[in-house]
Amino acid sequence: METIDLTALRNFSRRTGQPTHPELLDARPLTHVNKIEIDEEHITLEFDEKTTRFYNLNEITKREWIYKYNDDPEFVKAIGHVIELARKHLKELPENVACPPGCAECCSGYEPFVSREDVTRIAKHLGMSYAEVMREYIVERPSADGYHVGWVRKVTDDVADKCVFLMGPRSGRYYCGIYEARPHDCGEFTPIGCDDVDESLPRKASWKIGAPFRPNRRRASKRR
Ligand code: SF4
Ligand code: SF4
Repeated sequence: METIDLTALRNFSRRTGQPTHPELLDARPLTHVNKIEIDEEHITLEFDEKTTRFYNLNEITKREWIYKYNDDPEFVKAIGHVIELARKHLKELPENVACPPGCAECCSGYEPFVSREDVTRIAKHLGMSYAEVMREYIVERPSADGYHVGWVRKVTDDVADKCVFLMGPRSGRYYCGIYEARPHDCGEFTPIGCDDVDESLPRKASWKIGAPFRPNRRRASKRR
């Protein structure tokens, strides 16, 4: 039996500052997975999420559900392969990965999801109400589990267009106009795998940026 302890990975990440957190490796389905156990026949995933299910008249609340995929050897093999690749990837990660200042290429095309918490934080940051931020800057599309309420708008309806909060088109040195309050999705975004990253830039360097994003009150009132 082989066990991958994701908590240890997270601790490693915290200690070294290397983006080894499973979520940062774009392994989104691993959110809330505490442990994965693999043997020749089973893959057992342990979730740490509190869930409630209704089975007929019973209400079953558990913090941990264990799923076993023990009747599909192909699936077990495939997952084993993915984990092997992830481990290899982890070892091969460059020690230092930084985005060139002013790049922000990924703020076009990428649509960060937002939760209620994100919208509340952005509203406070911009001095607006929750409803105003939703109306002005969010494409409302609640996720099935109700966690996300939508995603950040683009400047136009073109999905490849720039994020409404992206600043710096004149200078060509782009930056996030709501950096301190940016969505969790943006903060967690990893540049791993992006061809534009620079491995020689100093870690934790700070770069000069322009003015922060300010809501366009006139446009906002016109929309009402
Ligand atoms: S992840 Fe890539 S595209 Fe995005 S800012 Fe970094 S280098 Fe640029
Ligand atoms: S909110 Fe900021 S970091 Fe996120 S996509 Fe928009 S400009 Fe980029």
